[in-house]
Amino acid sequence: MNRYICDSCGFSFNFSQVPSFCPKCGKEGAAARDTRKAKETARRMIAELNDEDIPVLESLHAGYIAQLAKINAKLETLRQYKKRGIVAPEEMPVVVLKSARDALKEYREQRREEKENA
Ligand SMILES: [Zn+2]
Repeated sequence: MNRYICDSCGFSFNFSQVPSFCPKCGKEGAAARDTRKAKETARRMIAELNDEDIPVLESLHAGYIAQLAKINAKLETLRQYKKRGIVAPEEMPVVVLKSARDALKEYREQRREEKENA
């Protein structure tokens, strides 16, 4: 089901396929996809991204990189200690990193569940 608008009379209506004529004025071939709602949604999303989401993303990314470097440095030091026999292999922290693909899949499943429960 898509929203269409008549170029001739301005009537807006839902239809499952491209309508061959306007159901109100009857003009043939006058109905075009009504993109007003999509344009409104796009403008809102652009504003949200510019005002909030992108600064948050940039900040989180910078923080993530800094934290990643800090943790990796500790792990690398521990690997060196393990090599020198200062740390036993069984003492080493276990690190299990999900692939970005799996993490994204989990995120999408969570979103789906949230939508179903809303
Ligand atoms: Zn019409």
